[in-house]
Amino acid sequence: MSVITNYPPTAELQALDAAHHMHPFTANAELAQKGARIIVRADGVRLTDSDGAEMIDAMAGLWCVNIGYGRHELAEAAARQMRELPYYNTFFQTSHVPALQLAAKLAELAPGDLNHVFFAAGGSEANDTNIRMVRHYWARKGQPEKRVIISRRNAYHGSSMGSASLGGMAGMHAQGGMPIPDIVHIDQPNWYAEGGDSDPQEFGIARARQLEAKIAELGADKVAAFIAEPVQGAGGVIVPPESYWPEIKRICAEHDILLIADEVICGFGRIGHWFGSQSYDIQPHIMTIAKGLSSGYAPIGGSIVCDEVAEVIGGGEFNHGYTYSGHPVAAAVALENLRILEEEKIVQRVHDDTGPYLTEAWARLADHPLVGEAVNRGLMASIALTPDKARRAPFAAPVGTVGLIARERCFANNLVMRHVGDRMIISPPLIISRDDIDEVILRATRALDETLETLHQRNLMTAAA
Ligand SMILES: *Cc1c(COP(=O)(O)O)cnc(C)c1O
Repeated sequence: MSVITNYPPTAELQALDAAHHMHPFTANAELAQKGARIIVRADGVRLTDSDGAEMIDAMAGLWCVNIGYGRHELAEAAARQMRELPYYNTFFQTSHVPALQLAAKLAELAPGDLNHVFFAAGGSEANDTNIRMVRHYWARKGQPEKRVIISRRNAYHGSSMGSASLGGMAGMHAQGGMPIPDIVHIDQPNWYAEGGDSDPQEFGIARARQLEAKIAELGADKVAAFIAEPVQGAGGVIVPPESYWPEIKRICAEHDILLIADEVICGFGRIGHWFGSQSYDIQPHIMTIAKGLSSGYAPIGGSIVCDEVAEVIGGGEFNHGYTYSGHPVAAAVALENLRILEEEKIVQRVHDDTGPYLTEAWARLADHPLVGEAVNRGLMASIALTPDKARRAPFAAPVGTVGLIARERCFANNLVMRHVGDRMIISPPLIISRDDIDEVILRATRALDETLETLHQRNLMTAAA
């Protein structure tokens, strides 16, 4: 493998980064003080930084590098397409081979009558498409007032005005005037944090019935759609009780509400099927896709749309589209990625082998004195940190204080694991081996031991009142 080594020393790179680069979801002044870690290359599940340190990337970048790093086939596909046709649009009665082939391939993979694809450059754009599409759908059916979209608190659906409004992140809504009108939120099915003494399955039903109550409050003639991730990702890998999705399915059907499954993380094998909807036996009207679609090798996302919605939308001009909708290079890369996922039976491996293996290995983390629960679905997993396991109590320190300490201990142990508040999460490349899963658990355990020591030293092992 050719290695690029002609970059300046780390300190110089960090100084340039601090002077000119505004990082997403980052307090930039604070980062400038300590300097960003500069990642220079990667292979398989491992990253290398500019000082030569090697880390296991248990987050697959940002939940996206499903086939792992270093697959030259994707580089070849991109180069081939760039030489042949680097760009063309699909707005004005033209099409091109990568976009149409990718749409056809996705229609084949997606369940039921999800046969039509509207492309975007990522998940946020795709969810913005969904907002406009479901409202336009009902308008074309003579119900323009059926326009409210119901989502959930602590959901993540992207960072544009529309998609962040769909999301239920309080910290995001606090900046820039969100949510936009006619998007409302119900509670998440997070039994660990919010279930108290209730039975988890009863709690799942109760949380689903908040949807029914919200529809009743607003009137079904005002509600266009409900959107949810099959398993919440950025919210902290919150696995819903098994009772939740069947009840949601019933409610959407009974009240004539469109169901949008945001598959940006769950899609493309993450939880053991091609789509999370299949894992939960749901048949949404629209699925949002991005991330694993190209394994992050090129920016591409989209909405996979059912026959009925596509037919209604297609009956007139939908005044919507992005310059890079179905970008030929990104589409060619995605096609190659899907070919590899399929030919190497990677989704099946998650379902039959590495998923169950992680379930067993991950569950052992629950024995650690800091861990209140350890859960996973396929190859996404989380642990909740707590000072009091029996009560599932949160820490007295501000939310995220302990999570950040734990994340830094993971980094120090050359493990990339993220914290969401005081939950620690992983979502490794789907090609991770059993040996590397063992290595992740080993390093995570070491990081938890060190975190516990730090918490004792700093008097942070106290529960909130
Ligand atoms: C990441 C993510 C998005 C946003 O995708 P971008 O490509 O970052 O715009 C939307 N939904 C979910 C569930 C995500 O995890």
